[in-house]
Amino acid sequence: MRIGLFGGTFDPPHVGHLVTAVNVRHALQLDVVVLMVANVPWQKVGSRPITAAQHRLAMVEAAVADVPGLEAGSDEIDLGGPSYTADTLALLARRFPDSALFTIMGDDAAARFETWDRYQEVAQRSTLVVVDRPGAPVELPGDFRWLRVEVPRLEVSSTDLRARCRDGRPLDYLVTEPVLGAITERHLYEEAE
Ligand code: ATP
Ligand code: MG
Repeated sequence: MRIGLFGGTFDPPHVGHLVTAVNVRHALQLDVVVLMVANVPWQKVGSRPITAAQHRLAMVEAAVADVPGLEAGSDEIDLGGPSYTADTLALLARRFPDSALFTIMGDDAAARFETWDRYQEVAQRSTLVVVDRPGAPVELPGDFRWLRVEVPRLEVSSTDLRARCRDGRPLDYLVTEPVLGAITERHLYEEAE
């Protein structure tokens, strides 16, 4: 098994995430890409209110429901507490002993890779996969096993989508319809942050 781990807050999940997941899966011939929903995204705590994990998981499930090869991951939520990719990779390695693991991230995340808890363990347990995001492309140190996959650059962020929602601007085509349905149904992003 070749497994891609694409972790995020997904608050909400958008087409940038989906286009990345589908294209990395294709480029690296992965069996599956797991969009792993962070339970407590500890690097973001304090900077803004984070939507409850169950809502974020429901949105990711809605996003991947009919996409072959993409899955919503709830392991970090099941584990509880702050989420660390090193732990998630260890869990995947135990569950799928003969698998090759790939940790997928955008340039902004790659730029901060060395602030991740036990980032050396992350680099040891997986091949790092970096995709373009607006801004300067990031180079990871050469002693890490890492590669860049070209995907269409989509200047979409969850931060912008939350602002759009609050202002009543449309989210159509920036998130999939089922995700939009989940946002409306659950009354998410209606209040100021
Ligand atoms: P926020 O604005 O709240 O930080 P976000 O859009 O950056 O949200 P995250 O959940 O923080 O989404 O990101 C999860 C992962 O997805 C990160 O590795 C990030 O770099 C990547 N990512 C997010 N948006 C895009 C995009 N438009 N294109 C490629 N990668 C993306
Ligand atoms: Mg982000």
